[in-house]
This record gives sequence, C-alpha cells and structure tokens, in this order.
Amino acid sequence: MNQQCATEEDWRYGWAAYKHYQCRTDVPVAIEGGPIFREQILESFQMLKRLAPYWYDYTVRGLDKVVQTFSYADTYVDTINRVFYLDYGEHWPVELTRYEHLVFTASILAHEACHVHREEAGLEAGGLVGEKACTERQLEAHVAMDPNDPRTNEHRETLANIHDPSTWWW
Ligand SMILES: [Zn+2]
Repeated sequence: MNQQCATEEDWRYGWAAYKHYQCRTDVPVAIEGGPIFREQILESFQMLKRLAPYWYDYTVRGLDKVVQTFSYADTYVDTINRVFYLDYGEHWPVELTRYEHLVFTASILAHEACHVHREEAGLEAGGLVGEKACTERQLEAHVAMDPNDPRTNEHRETLANIHDPSTWWW
C-alpha cells in the first residue's frame, strides 16, 4: 500500500501507514531517524508548505536529506551532499507547543537550505558572512510563517550580536 499522501485528507488516512514506511509523502526530502524525529521533520516541512509556500520551495530545493544525530557536535549541513545532520532527541519538547516547535524547526530547515544555495551559487557558504545571510533568510521564513511568533526575536538577537565572537556557534 504505497499510496501517495498528497492532500490533507490522504494525510489523515495515511498517517498510520506512513509511520510504518508504507506511504510516501509529498515532501521530496528524505528523512532518516527514529519515528518521532521523522514525524517532527516531516510536519515541519508541511507547516512551511502550508504557511509559507515560497520558503517551502526554497527549502526543499536546497536539501536532499535530513538525518537525525544525537549530539550537538554532529549538527551541521553538508553543503556538497545537501544533507542536514540534526541533533534532535526522540521526543517532543515539553516547553513548547507542537505548533511552536514545528514553526521553529521549519525556520532551521530554511536556514540550512540557505547554506546549500550559497554553496551552489559560489558564495561564501559559512563563516560570519554565510551565517549572517542564512540567519536573515531564517528570519524571513519565520516571519512569513507567523509574524507574531515571539521566537522570531531569537533570530533578530542573533543578527544584532553576530559580530560578537562569544555568540558564534560555527
Ligand atoms: Zn548556519
């Protein structure tokens, strides 16, 4: 039963099947990891598609695969192979609603896709220049999804302090 889960209706009916890898999704990015991770990343892409179609298109054109890791040190984007390795545990955060978590995660996916797009455009993919540009894209994607989300301010704070080496995570 390899049905395509293309619409919201299909999605509801197909959900149980999807959980068992029996139903393809309409998101053209492979997701590797445990069931909760796959659910989170898939729903983040779908949230992005629903709320900010331009940024969904931008993001799926930049990433071929998202892979779960269990260490922050292993969180990075391979801009050559277009794979984002992400440290997420097998649980939903307790301090955020499901919606808040999905929107924020979707903004991260847009950020990582930006690094790939920059690499492919021959621009500086990482470092201060790349992180500034991609945090700007992340903010734009996040605002496009929900301009009233207070967590958009986290990106604004990152940008305001981006020249301060103590804030650098790369
Ligand atoms: Zn980055």
